[in-house]
Amino acid sequence: MSSSATAGIRTYKNYVNGEWVASASGQTFPVYDPSTEEVIAEVAAAGAADVDLAVKAARAAFDSGPWATTTAQDRGRVLFKLAEKIRQNSPQLAEIECRNTGKPIVEAEYDIADVATCFEYYGGLATKVLGSVNPVPANALSFTLREPVGVAGQIIPWNYPLLMAAWKLAPALAAGCTCVLKPAEQTPLTALEFANCFGEVGLPPGVVNILNGPGETAGAALVAHPGVDKIAFTGSAAVGKIIVKSAADTLKRVTLELGGKSPNIFFTDADWEASIDGALFGVFINQGEVCSAGSRILVEKKIYSKFVEAMTEKAKRIKLGAPLERDTKMGPLVSKEQYDRVSSYLELGKKEAKVAIGGGRPKQFGKGYYVEPTIFYDVDNTARIAREEIFGPVASVIPFDGEADAIRIANDTPYGLAAAVWTRDIYKAFRVVKSLRAGIVWVNHMQPTYVEAPWGGYKQSGFGRELGPWGLEEYLETKQVFVNLDETPIGWY
Ligand code: ADP
Ligand code: MG
Repeated sequence: MSSSATAGIRTYKNYVNGEWVASASGQTFPVYDPSTEEVIAEVAAAGAADVDLAVKAARAAFDSGPWATTTAQDRGRVLFKLAEKIRQNSPQLAEIECRNTGKPIVEAEYDIADVATCFEYYGGLATKVLGSVNPVPANALSFTLREPVGVAGQIIPWNYPLLMAAWKLAPALAAGCTCVLKPAEQTPLTALEFANCFGEVGLPPGVVNILNGPGETAGAALVAHPGVDKIAFTGSAAVGKIIVKSAADTLKRVTLELGGKSPNIFFTDADWEASIDGALFGVFINQGEVCSAGSRILVEKKIYSKFVEAMTEKAKRIKLGAPLERDTKMGPLVSKEQYDRVSSYLELGKKEAKVAIGGGRPKQFGKGYYVEPTIFYDVDNTARIAREEIFGPVASVIPFDGEADAIRIANDTPYGLAAAVWTRDIYKAFRVVKSLRAGIVWVNHMQPTYVEAPWGGYKQSGFGRELGPWGLEEYLETKQVFVNLDETPIGWY
């Protein structure tokens, strides 16, 4: 086991080359339960020296370790075993995820189930990577080999900690890559617990390494390291830009899944009850800490006032509570930093628009980073609360006048991760689908995400795709092999 109990606080190290190691500096940092504001773990803080060790281990495992010669079938089997371990330990993992993020336990359970499904999916896909034979006009055979891209540096956020780790580790391992994963410093615990089973399932040392620590040090060193071939990042657009610039020095491959300000569009003819639910669910699920949150709620003028009223009435029923209670629908935000950030947007929103409900801290909690579900209305799409990603339970309701206006407002954003449209008119639905610049468009729903289908953004929401065969592609290189079949010398000189 990695962890030992000292006065209820668990301690964790970095996982490098199949072993638990302290950071070179000996430094650690605290990890919190955001519902109690108490420290629940002390975790080793990796610096550049630790990053170097982990990358060297991943490099050696890729270049000459047993992983380099495993068959796709064997890699698939390892992934199935990882899925099995997740399922066996799902109650504990869900509880740790719940305590560390503040998300409701029921949502944490869904997340952990999705983690297992993700490993199973890529376990199956490992043996389905196909090359091509290319019809070159020569007496030759041209074909392709699909090869792993190498050492993958993977930097993930705190909103779905183990699930984001799975979205990155599973396709990378299926492809035959080795990995250095850096969880968000707020929420490293489930990934660290998961690492306890790596040896048992037959992952050779160095194939998956986990480093903890702040993005500005551990993350930045990983991005800059010349031994890393690819960076896969999920997080804020601001950090995405820093990563692209830094990765340019070593011309790493980069895939980015960044933020959003996703429009959730409601036409007059949409199913009423489903719409109100969909508007609330779209923005308040996981406390609004969702990259695809439907944080701009676009409502057709004819139903606008009634819609705001109905949303407000139903929002009153959202049960805020302790994350471990099964009827809790919203827990606290993940950290003090996030609470302060969201709170500052609440103050800004009160100046930029009208408040239908919420706007502050719920009074019933003495402790914890709780924020009320907040609905701003009469929001202009140029307002900062309509343009900037807040990453909390904050909705901006914006009226529109007809289909063209809805499309114009929806696309008037630097982001393009997700969108949704609600209508019973299939002509209108598909016209709007085609007009929206976003990596996913839901019709009459918002948020369902499945491992079989692609995920990623247009515009400043990033590039590259995760999940499905698309996610595996991002970890593969394509090698062309040209075999001359004509024995005649070239005869050029
Ligand atoms: P937030 O603003 O919510 O903290 P971030 O984009 O900063 O979101 O964090 C997402 C992930 O990126 C985290 O794992 C974090 O440690 C990491 N990160 C933050 N800054 C950097 C950086 N300069 N270089 C590499 N990784 C970073
Ligand atoms: Mg940050």
